[in-house]
Amino acid sequence: MPAQSILLIEDELKIARFLELELKYEGYTVEQAHDGRSGLQKALENNFDLIILDVMLPALNGMEVLRRLRQTSGVPVIMLTAKDEVMDKVMGLDIGADDYVTKPFAIEELLARIRVALKRKNNVTAVNPSILKIDELTVDLEKHTVSFNNEYVELTKREFDLLKYLIENKNIVLSREKILETVWGYDYLGDTNVVDVYIRYLRSKIDDKYNKKLIHTVRGVGYVLRNGNN
Ligand code: CA
Repeated sequence: MPAQSILLIEDELKIARFLELELKYEGYTVEQAHDGRSGLQKALENNFDLIILDVMLPALNGMEVLRRLRQTSGVPVIMLTAKDEVMDKVMGLDIGADDYVTKPFAIEELLARIRVALKRKNNVTAVNPSILKIDELTVDLEKHTVSFNNEYVELTKREFDLLKYLIENKNIVLSREKILETVWGYDYLGDTNVVDVYIRYLRSKIDDKYNKKLIHTVRGVGYVLRNGNN
């Protein structure tokens, strides 16, 4: 397997240098950015396996970098937050961070989180591409079936199409408009509330039924399918 690449967006040069050395020692290739704007640009222009993103950054803060990145990319992101940034933690997970590590942290902890995030990512892409998984939920695109923990979940065609769109873009926040265009089509003339209605149907058949939070509402934006208990 070729070396996995990590983009490190961190403005504190001492920390960045230290992390780069440690990550390289572990066999990763590392690229650095020292402000949010150039970090976002690098993230969008390259295909990194993982991104380590500091929250407090000049030019564009980490939250904003993540928010913009998630409009088009599902790359695993681990955020670095300071001890008192509890709000940021919650917000970060809300807008699609995979994990976070609180500063000051032990390097072993960060390395462990990186391994978990990369493993999760590889599990998703390496298996049969017609079978998409998140947590215990499995969507088989070929057979048009959905199961949770091997238990068959019965969905209508529209519910299936919506879930398919969500899981194909997992960890990416999708606006109501985008969902409407993709699942219902450009020429749909009915009420846009239909998206919320069908999200509710899916939740009752999956999240509520199995007591799991997979479909998350991002207030003022839309919805995201994400692994997480928060
Ligand atoms: Ca910083």
